[in-house]
Amino acid sequence: MSGSLSVVGLGPGPAYWLTPEADAVLKGATDLVGYAPYVDRLPQRPGQARHASDNRVELDRAHAALDLAQAGRHVAVVSGGDPGVFAMAAAVFEAVEARPVHERDLPIQVVPGISAMLAAAARLGAPLGHDFCALSLSDNLKPWTAIERRLRAAADGDFVMAFYNPVSKARPDRLREALALLGTLKASDTVVAFARAIGRPTESLSVTTLAAAVDQPADMSTLVIVGSSETRIVARPAGTPWVLTPRSYRAGA
Ligand code: SAH
Repeated sequence: MSGSLSVVGLGPGPAYWLTPEADAVLKGATDLVGYAPYVDRLPQRPGQARHASDNRVELDRAHAALDLAQAGRHVAVVSGGDPGVFAMAAAVFEAVEARPVHERDLPIQVVPGISAMLAAAARLGAPLGHDFCALSLSDNLKPWTAIERRLRAAADGDFVMAFYNPVSKARPDRLREALALLGTLKASDTVVAFARAIGRPTESLSVTTLAAAVDQPADMSTLVIVGSSETRIVARPAGTPWVLTPRSYRAGA
């Protein structure tokens, strides 16, 4: 019996942000594999096995999923957002790379999802309307010096920046350090947006300046967007202002 492996993006949270393709693959899977909070989001289905694991064992989880698929199971490895953005797709292909070449006949597909930065941008208006980059502030898998180098380069290029993993329990000060560094490189009134738990019941948005953002708390469910020199706010009578990065760029040519 030949199995298969799908790496499935669940989107940021709500069912309306799960694609019909992802929904179909999840319904057809014999086994769900993933970080426990993502597996817990999915309904229990009769006959479907669930393998929930800790966050830090991505490569082990990828090998376990490949073992199941090689044994003939139809496995869905789940990630929040998009599986290719700081998530399981890379772990799966690292595992594939390390295994015997004859195993590469296994059908593997990556099913895309709405990444947190896209959902956050949609709520805010159009902060990613011009060139942007995405960085994970987690230094679990790379040294902090590499993150600082990239922050400097992104500031030098005047990119809008989207920060994933801005803080964790083990690293409560990383976001503050990143924003403090950017404070030495960019204007203090640069627009900064915090988008928390987008699409979930506790969703919140706040829009501030780089100078004020340094003191603003964030958690593991927050996506932070730092504007370019052209990013501006469009105020509204009530509620959070819109954030706009225009399509055209005139600064610092
Ligand atoms: N693959 C995921 C990202 C995994 S990294 C994706 O494409 O979205 C985890 C980080 O994503 C979190 O620390 C947070 O920065 C961000 N994130 C995930 N879900 C979010 C949500 N609903 N709202 C805001 N940020 C979110």
